[in-house]
Amino acid sequence: MPTPSIAELHRPGAASNVLADSAPAAAMPPPPGFARLRSCIGLPQVSEVDVVRHFTRLSQESHGVDNGPYPLGSCTMKYNPKRNDELARLPGFACAHPMQDADTLGGVWEMYERLQAMVCEITGMDACCLAPAAGAQGEFAGLLMIRRHFARFGVHRPVVLVPDSAHGTNPASAAMAGFACRIVPSDAKGRVDRQLLRAMLTPEVAAFMLTNPSTLGLFEDQIVEIADAVHANGSLLYYDGANLNALMGIVRPGDMGFDLVHVNVHKTFSTPHGGGGPGAGPVAVKAALAQYLPGPVVVRRSGLAQPDGDRPLSIGRIKAFHGHVGVLLRAYGYLRTMGARGLRQASENAVLNANYLQHRLAPMLPPVYAQLCKHETLLSGAKLKTSVRQFAKRLIDYGIHPPTLVGAGCVYFPGDLKSAMLIEPTETETKASLDCQVDIFQRIFNEDAMDETLDGGARLGRKMARIDGN
Ligand SMILES: *Cc1c(COP(=O)(O)O)cnc(C)c1O
Repeated sequence: MPTPSIAELHRPGAASNVLADSAPAAAMPPPPGFARLRSCIGLPQVSEVDVVRHFTRLSQESHGVDNGPYPLGSCTMKYNPKRNDELARLPGFACAHPMQDADTLGGVWEMYERLQAMVCEITGMDACCLAPAAGAQGEFAGLLMIRRHFARFGVHRPVVLVPDSAHGTNPASAAMAGFACRIVPSDAKGRVDRQLLRAMLTPEVAAFMLTNPSTLGLFEDQIVEIADAVHANGSLLYYDGANLNALMGIVRPGDMGFDLVHVNVHKTFSTPHGGGGPGAGPVAVKAALAQYLPGPVVVRRSGLAQPDGDRPLSIGRIKAFHGHVGVLLRAYGYLRTMGARGLRQASENAVLNANYLQHRLAPMLPPVYAQLCKHETLLSGAKLKTSVRQFAKRLIDYGIHPPTLVGAGCVYFPGDLKSAMLIEPTETETKASLDCQVDIFQRIFNEDAMDETLDGGARLGRKMARIDGN
């Protein structure tokens, strides 16, 4: 049964008992120009307990990683430790005002300087700005830096290449930054088609934007050759580091040959971000591009962290004030808690979990590319009688958020892929939780095979069983 609206709960005469206002509004005349309404405005009449139940029920209709698995491929919906939220509420940070004098924000600059260094260490870059508000804004900042770099030397390079497996923000950011975008096709193994790439690397090309492992969960094993080809053409190699969940402490974009990168701290480094909540998309670059970084870039001078005021070649500010301090503080807390070894283990577990799910789900949803995956796996819906869409709706009935869907009416994906799901379990799901998810997938697959109507509207209220045994 769909949840009724508050208007449908209306019962004439039902009421809630609220203590009367000690200063009755009626005694005060309305301000000049305003008329007081004398008649009833038609608010629904509902008893107090029904009002409370109604809004509590609505709050439970919203799915987050705190009430069930959220295997949304590419987006890294991992569990976010609550201690990082507590850090973000520390009054020294939460009450700092962005218009305070910069020299009264010492704690913020200290945290920024350390976090910049951590982002550089993890990505293999030399300099970093934390200010961009999200991944897409980090891309935009990166592309503006690329533009400035070529403009500075009077070189006209109006084209950016992106692979067909790229996240949709890549071509959008390139267009916003004034570039024409050309799409590089994938080969049969889901990798960049290197022969086609070589043919597309013309003197017009400013940069190639790439994610590795790609949004298909596959590692580009010829990345060094690709980087060499891009650089031999005088172009730059941009790394879309929105999701670093497969490679923390294992391999670094800077060592693969990338020149600049953005990172979604709200995906990999702890911040609840479903539904478009605030995030942060730091950009990090090799030394040759450092002078173009947007502000603030925090430097340490005579032991004191402070924003660098002398950066004439900077592309300028990309975000009001200093960026999302609370989100960056969560990332700092996460990184300090995990440490280098912990980060590596998180990535290893994320990859292990994805391969475990890929293996166990294969009889129902075979992987599109039959090989080991990285942090996520693309599963084919070819065996389904209904559709991946109906399948995903049914998952919601069981308390699992739908994976990223590919196919008619769903997100765009490369090539002629008709129907698939991109699943990213993340490292924070236990084996017991993964097994429980596989059981649910199996039940839905059986329903589908029996040609039962997978009607997502029919809520059976069967939620994923609580998982015992850690
Ligand atoms: C999420 C994502 C982005 C965009 O990040 P936002 O913070 O949503 O702007 C870019 N690229 C990839 C691969 C992503 O997964």
